[in-house]
Amino acid sequence: MLKTDHPNLVLINFKEPDASGHANNWNAYLKGIKDTDAYAWEIWKLIKSDPFYKDNTTLFVTNDHGRHLDGVKDGFVNHGNCACEGCQHINLYAYGPDFKKNLIVKDTYYQKDVAATTAKLLDLQMPHSEGKSIDVLFKKAK
Ligand SMILES: [Zn+2]
Ligand SMILES: [Zn+2]
Repeated sequence: MLKTDHPNLVLINFKEPDASGHANNWNAYLKGIKDTDAYAWEIWKLIKSDPFYKDNTTLFVTNDHGRHLDGVKDGFVNHGNCACEGCQHINLYAYGPDFKKNLIVKDTYYQKDVAATTAKLLDLQMPHSEGKSIDVLFKKAK
């Protein structure tokens, strides 16, 4: 689909490692992390090599939620409405021609800010969104 249909926007939601975490299967959980990392790497390589995507495509890799830290409730098995750092903190990898390279941002942002940043990249208006574009990522003001 990515190679043939060339969509303008794609959201891919990976089943792992969440599913194996909930199954309390540590080995499968670790495998899910490695496999999903490899899938993201394949997507990145496709973006770099496909003439349609090359030099004009943004890639965000993030998680839709965190996970309990060890010693918090049932640890890696679950997540939820929880104040632990594992549940409160997710990561975002942002790659694309509009973004600075090798920048590490430690400021606090929220998932809604990824949507606002995506809207900015696509010149879409989201008047009812409370998200703010993560402008520090951009090479120049957009
Ligand atoms: Zn879950
Ligand atoms: Zn937690």
